[in-house]
Amino acid sequence: MITECDRRKQISMRGIAPVENVATVKKSFNRHLHYTLVKDRNVATPRDYYFSLAYTVRDHLVSRWIRTQQFYYEVDPKRVYYLSLEFYMGRTLSNTMVNLGIQSSCDEAMYQLGLDIEELEEIEQDAGLGNGGLGRLAACFLDSMASLGLAAYGYGIRYDYGIFTQRIENGWQVEEPDDWLRFGNPWEKSRPEYCLPVNFYGRVEKVNDQDKWVDAQVLFAMPYDTPVPGYGNNTVNTLRLWSCKAPNSFQLHFFNNGDYINAVCERNNAENISRVLYPNDNVFEGKELRLKQEYFMVTASLQDLIRRFKSSSFGQAKPVRTSFDTFPDKVAIQLNDTHPSLAIPELMRILVDIENVPWDKAWDITTRTCAYTNHTVLPEALERWPVGLLGHVLPRHLAILYEINLRFLQEVGKRWPGDFGRLARMSLVEEGPEKKINMAHVCIVGSKAVNGVAAIHSEIIKKNTFKDFYEMFPKKFQNKTNGITPRRWLLLCNPGLSDAIAEKIGETWVTNLNELRKLTPLSKEEAFLRNFMKIKQENKMKLAQYLQTNYHIKVNTASMFDMQVKRIHEYKRQLMNCLHIITLYNRLKKNPQAPFVPRTIMVGGKAAPGYHIAKMIIKLINNVGRVVNNDPIIGDRLKVIYLENYRVSLAEKIIPAADLSEQISLAGTEASGTGNMKFMLNGALTIGTLDGANVEMMEEMGKENIFIFGMTVDEVEELFRKGYNPRSFYENDAELKQALDQVNGGYFSPEDPNLFSDLYQGLLNNDRFALCADFRAYVDCQEQVSELFKDPMKWAVKATLNVAASGKFSSDRTISEYAKDIWGVEPSLVKLPNPADKGSAKEN
Ligand SMILES: *Cc1c(COP(=O)(O)O)cnc(C)c1O
Repeated sequence: MITECDRRKQISMRGIAPVENVATVKKSFNRHLHYTLVKDRNVATPRDYYFSLAYTVRDHLVSRWIRTQQFYYEVDPKRVYYLSLEFYMGRTLSNTMVNLGIQSSCDEAMYQLGLDIEELEEIEQDAGLGNGGLGRLAACFLDSMASLGLAAYGYGIRYDYGIFTQRIENGWQVEEPDDWLRFGNPWEKSRPEYCLPVNFYGRVEKVNDQDKWVDAQVLFAMPYDTPVPGYGNNTVNTLRLWSCKAPNSFQLHFFNNGDYINAVCERNNAENISRVLYPNDNVFEGKELRLKQEYFMVTASLQDLIRRFKSSSFGQAKPVRTSFDTFPDKVAIQLNDTHPSLAIPELMRILVDIENVPWDKAWDITTRTCAYTNHTVLPEALERWPVGLLGHVLPRHLAILYEINLRFLQEVGKRWPGDFGRLARMSLVEEGPEKKINMAHVCIVGSKAVNGVAAIHSEIIKKNTFKDFYEMFPKKFQNKTNGITPRRWLLLCNPGLSDAIAEKIGETWVTNLNELRKLTPLSKEEAFLRNFMKIKQENKMKLAQYLQTNYHIKVNTASMFDMQVKRIHEYKRQLMNCLHIITLYNRLKKNPQAPFVPRTIMVGGKAAPGYHIAKMIIKLINNVGRVVNNDPIIGDRLKVIYLENYRVSLAEKIIPAADLSEQISLAGTEASGTGNMKFMLNGALTIGTLDGANVEMMEEMGKENIFIFGMTVDEVEELFRKGYNPRSFYENDAELKQALDQVNGGYFSPEDPNLFSDLYQGLLNNDRFALCADFRAYVDCQEQVSELFKDPMKWAVKATLNVAASGKFSSDRTISEYAKDIWGVEPSLVKLPNPADKGSAKEN
């Protein structure tokens, strides 16, 4: 239970609640409880209270939302459309209160009603419509676009089931469906009146000498809108998510045959398109349903934004646009990876087949509108659709892609005559046992800009992955280093640190994160450092309390909280972390009296359900934990905790409590990482490789404030070029050998001694991510981390300098760069809604 005094302290950055606002919130809350939830306080459940508060907060958005959309219609600025198969939004209630600046009023109102607002916030289900970094990036970008006042829209799929819920049973990952809409979603508004048709299958036929798509099966995309409020401005943008609906005419032939029941049941199958998020992170799974999801989202979104383009007012009475000449000046489409890459052939199809724009003009419009962000260089993640499947589901698009390829290869041939190797490498169509369309190639050819997500990654795609394309289109290639929103990832999740910062440098950092540089001189002030460490300690105690009540785990809050939370993937090398844990354990066993810096090592993350090795890594970490945590010789000097069901709302709880952030991917494999930035912003130190955004983090903070180890990208390349033999590292490192032999010999799985031999064999025979080669550098670097942790004040200096240097990693900076260098858009500052001005303007 929090005391009145604690509660007051917590809300200091949220201002003092005006009495009349508190009264308004209470009134609205009671009205919703009565009229919307149809409950009184005798029978209302905590969930009813959550919904009442959510509706109350939502009401505060509505006028600004309508006004913003009217304003865009009147001013007709260039619109940005962020197309993504994933939006990993997490919870909405507290973020909305923070961005609207009504948190203290709501907090006080709930307090006066005898309710605990934090308890109500915990009832909200995460909107888990994403896998990991890529989906969370889309969510951070929405926040930044609204906060910067850009006329932006997110477009995606309203999955009935988001990322699965992970439970750990006897150390194994077990997946449960994420039925996040079961109790209803107070943040969305369905718009059945804006349903749009979506076609599949059929064939291409010549009609008046023009190719047309005929005999297709028709479904509908129904939009659901979620408001996206900016921080401290009047902008409320829209995230529009599509849900699949079968038309009433669906399977008419069944009806005609009298099989009414089957006809109705078949509708449900057809609506499976928006049923469930594919749970793969950085892996391509070439399933027909996934292809249909991608096209479903793309066609609905394009039809919708073209309708909006056509109905624009130009600020005049109501002319309707008929020419597409200005389309690229009014519309920017950003493709979040290749997942929405069908936008390129689909825009061509709409322009050429439906709007009768000549091919060359349509191509010019398309390539001046679309831009593509690459998120990975792992070959298994690159989307390559079999021609047979694509031609079956989307016959017209396949024909269009062939036409694009024909014309493109003619250009390549002109530029490099006789270079057939180059033609084969650059073709959109990959030859082989099964012909495939390389969707990254489609995106590069069809976009005005191609960007990587961190400096090192953008160099790698120019030098290796897309080298031929870089030689042909050098000016298309850019870098946009990822970022995170400082609202959710500091202000909201870490009120203690936010207040301590605000006390020293004011509150402008919330919208200008570079202001954090002003903390640099404070790293020399003992009082500030002590307060900084006190806040970290309080966050650690709060997390310990959470682990205690929810998982009955006791942790030593004086120990170093060492965290690795992210999707489980071999390239992220959770297994190397695990081998380090085993090594620490072996050292303690060998020499129990030797001084030891206590650690609580927490690992969390989901494995794709079909990814065997990743699931074995989870099981191994849990089994190692079982041995370590129950060994009386170890005591509370070393604990291993698997954080079940890692997701956005759990990230918000654990990151503020971290001392050490593990960012240990093999150099050249993690495109950027954003988890790394969240930890830095919350004052954790990083142990990491020179990979992704770690490189730029080091540049910002100075190499003395981060623990960098392991091979560089060049050294990795050299290692594999010379022929990497993991066995030699194993033979020559006693601690590595001991740890791996224990894994292989059943030390952690006595009931099934061969359980982990796959992991062992995999490492020694084909260590793709060079874990054996980096192990020694990692373990030695961890010793330096422990050494520093013994001196809290020295640690605090570096932690403070981490926070002070994290300004670059605001997604506001990232979005400003996209706006300037790719989209060509500027803020449209929405004026306050004027109650006297009862707008008759159209809103869409
Ligand atoms: C930020 C975030 C990620 C991305 O983490 P990385 O360490 O960059 O892979 C994944 N999942 C969740 C829930 C996140 O909040």
